Amino acid sequence: MNVFINPGHALGGHPDPGCINPAEHLRECDIALTVGSLTGKFLEAAGCGVKLLQSHNLAGESPEYPCVTDEANRWLADVFVSIHVNAGGGRGAETFCYWKFGAGGRLASCIQSQLVTAMQAIDPGYQDRGVKERKSLCVLRESYMPAALVELGFIDSEDVSLLKEHQEDMAKAVARGVTDFWRENLAFSGAKS
Ligand SMILES: [Zn+2]
Repeated sequence: MNVFINPGHALGGHPDPGCINPAEHLRECDIALTVGSLTGKFLEAAGCGVKLLQSHNLAGESPEYPCVTDEANRWLADVFVSIHVNAGGGRGAETFCYWKFGAGGRLASCIQSQLVTAMQAIDPGYQDRGVKERKSLCVLRESYMPAALVELGFIDSEDVSLLKEHQEDMAKAVARGVTDFWRENLAFSGAKS
């Protein structure tokens, strides 16, 4: 299985770091890159092909940067995962898909469920905000393969300690979600491996 990982926002934070928490010196782009890279390592260890691209060009809008969805489509990725961090003071995880009842919806619920289980074991205040359809998210709309966008937690709430100290656990959970989806998929298609 080939997994394309897209840590959200611009590489290095320029021109777009995503959400930030200045008091904690936290930027979404950095958390997403660390968790995305670790997710890739876990998936490679599980035998997956992995490509990672963090870029300020999701679907052709900033041609001076490499285009995320073009790269994923050209590579013929089997699965696309975008990694983000929320802001606005809530708690917990939510995962977006293009269509809840499609393969992307199943991928999203596998990731959501692993992440919630892993984080609630550390901090019961971490909320399961569920899987949501979001047709306006262009990485979900423009990628050809099953795609999900996960929000790991809120940069401006008590989620901060999880976001700072449990990036590896988050990555492990996201990777497990992807492999859960893939196993489910193989079962559906009747494949033997
Ligand atoms: Zn974001």
